[in-house]
Amino acid sequence: MKFIVKNKSTKGYQRLLDLKRVNGNYSNVKNDISQSDYIRDEVLTSLLEEQGFICAYCMRQIDLSNSTIEHIIGQNYIENGQELGKENQINYDNFLAVCKGTLCRSQLHCDKNRANYQKERPLFANPLKNIIIQNINFSEKGAVYYKNFIKLEEISKLKNHLISDEDSNIRYDLEVVLNLNCQNLKEKRALIIKAIKKLSDNGRKKEVLKKLLSKYEIKNDNKYSEFCEVVIKYIIKKI
Ligand SMILES: [Zn+2]
Repeated sequence: MKFIVKNKSTKGYQRLLDLKRVNGNYSNVKNDISQSDYIRDEVLTSLLEEQGFICAYCMRQIDLSNSTIEHIIGQNYIENGQELGKENQINYDNFLAVCKGTLCRSQLHCDKNRANYQKERPLFANPLKNIIIQNINFSEKGAVYYKNFIKLEEISKLKNHLISDEDSNIRYDLEVVLNLNCQNLKEKRALIIKAIKKLSDNGRKKEVLKKLLSKYEIKNDNKYSEFCEVVIKYIIKKI
């Protein structure tokens, strides 16, 4: 995950404000009727630009053709009797652009896997919260973890939702709800770390790493590199 800053000056933000004014709802965004497709594409394009064209959860590179709109507060989510999901269904700040969650063959990941949980569970691993993103790390084997590495079996022992402390909830989101440690994602991240290690395997290690870091920290042609945070976190640990 990479920290996302919401941009209120985008076309997509404006489109949703206009829709709110005429009492529209999310079906006006997602359905393929009249000008709705147009709204969906504009909103999704704004989200993609905001995120540098990487999935808000797994950081795979995405574009208009292979991404979808995700609600941070799930559309059916109710908290203490309040229909928070409905209230935020066309709130731009509640939207993320995500991949289709199909990289891991038989398993789903990202919002496709979260769909099973979002009725009763809010999102704890929220990419809009920088303090959380700062504490997400990656092992050299490509596993994503929060604060300190805890074995998967320990996390899976935790029950689905309403765990008392926030750290456990964030871990449960990364590991179970979003399934970000599915085999293929882990392997892809491990390969990137291996490549960076190899590149920096010479006498001028720090210099090379610093150069790489500045490359991965910025957008190139509006786009971040796939899995950029994996590289950034690895290099920061090494220099
Ligand atoms: Zn994803």
